[in-house]
Amino acid sequence: MSDLRDLYQEVIFDHNRHPRNFGKLEEANRFAAGHNPLCGDRLNLYLKVEDGVIVDARFEGVGCAISTASASLMTERLKGMRVDEAEVLYGRFHELLTGSAAADDTASLGKLNVLLGVKEYPARVKCATLAWHTLHAALGDQEKTVTTE
Ligand code: ZN
Repeated sequence: MSDLRDLYQEVIFDHNRHPRNFGKLEEANRFAAGHNPLCGDRLNLYLKVEDGVIVDARFEGVGCAISTASASLMTERLKGMRVDEAEVLYGRFHELLTGSAAADDTASLGKLNVLLGVKEYPARVKCATLAWHTLHAALGDQEKTVTTE
């Protein structure tokens, strides 16, 4: 597993050890659960949406360092973001990680760029995208339980 050590950059390490926005959000009005069977990552995502704006976001779950850091970084970024902007960000993040977007489109991701390192490890890409698939489910009308498989 030593090749994975490069992935655990300072930010990812920090967000895994001290996840931001961790815990249940009682006043949430959007919810979805995500599962990545490949790695065993599970998370529940809670959003509070008012007038098309995500005013609060929290998550809880059990997963590897990358899935936890991704959810932590994502919830941090989502607060104050419009729902349509969040959907655009979801799409861009997913495209960048799965390789279908131009590499020069990374500036808009800001801090989320630290997660793009997992591109080198295809098996871990789903760990990084799990929170985002769960976000997409929470914002949409589809099934509220998503799986990466
Ligand atoms: Zn994982």
